[in-house]
Amino acid sequence: MTIVLKPTVTESEIEMLTKIVKTKGVEANLIVGTEMSIIGLVGDTSKIDKAQLESQRFVEKVLYVAEPYKKANIKFHPDPTVIEVMNQTIGGKKLAIIAGPCSVESKEQITSIAEDVKRCGASFLRGGAFKPRTSPYSFQGLAYDGLELLKEARAATGLPIITEIMSTRDIDVFARDVDVIQVGARNMQNYDLLKALGKIPKPILLKRGLSATIEEWLMSAEYIMSGGNEQIILCERGIRTFETFTRNTLDLSAILAVKQQSHLPIVVDPSHATGKYWMVEPMAMAAAAAGADGLIIEVHNDPVNAWCDGQQSIKPSRFEKLMEKLSTIAPLTGKEI
Ligand code: PEP
Ligand code: MN
Repeated sequence: MTIVLKPTVTESEIEMLTKIVKTKGVEANLIVGTEMSIIGLVGDTSKIDKAQLESQRFVEKVLYVAEPYKKANIKFHPDPTVIEVMNQTIGGKKLAIIAGPCSVESKEQITSIAEDVKRCGASFLRGGAFKPRTSPYSFQGLAYDGLELLKEARAATGLPIITEIMSTRDIDVFARDVDVIQVGARNMQNYDLLKALGKIPKPILLKRGLSATIEEWLMSAEYIMSGGNEQIILCERGIRTFETFTRNTLDLSAILAVKQQSHLPIVVDPSHATGKYWMVEPMAMAAAAAGADGLIIEVHNDPVNAWCDGQQSIKPSRFEKLMEKLSTIAPLTGKEI
């Protein structure tokens, strides 16, 4: 971290600033130039508050040399993180395929979709029980009954279950019953929730916020990791742009950015990214070709009558064809299905 000082700075102000940063355990090196002076901070600057330093009248600006995320940073952890869940992995050689409906609707619905996606080669079952809907009048999910149905589908198929948590109130239930806990896009910056998830030994699928930068997203991962839980899977699910044709804009370059900056695995959700069932297959293939560690895909046996997100759900028959295509794409990036 570098502090650029205003030309008018006095010696006593520099002394005062040096004292402040030293109390945070970092070294301060003053470099006096002809036009301006700077202070270079060496050490773990994660506890230094950039905005607080910038509020000093004699500070011009504060620049990051290193990224503010440490535990999520590839520099301090060069080997890729591989998440292991019930004999399945995310981040390893296998392209992890997570599939299932947007929402759990009934025992028949979730179990038959679970059987279909398993037969086609999926390794994880997704399904929402607590749904973050834009309208309070829309179906909000079957809540705890939905979790029970997911557990039944797991028992019937052996597929690990991934489902979204919306409140810290449910941490204990999710820690006990769910295999991978999803943090939805709308909760990516719910810091109380992230802190609570940092305290449990469960993998977390952290979706990118609707308008979050890569750095903000990795800082959310850092929140969970700093609490002690380092099992994070990042999920790119499209971001808000000026384009309205698609539900969101799929940022495929995020795969490359995350791979350059972090050791954490990244999966792509082409369903929420596009909002259109007919775009799911090509975008899933593009994500696999760009090096994603996995895909999370909404599959429904009766999309027209789905209680949520039918417009972006593909049928099992289409999912089966996609899996065949993915098996030829995955080896291009050193993965297998
Ligand atoms: C979901 O996966 O069902 C979901 C609500 O996704 P997102 O948080 O990405 O909108
Ligand atoms: Mn959905």
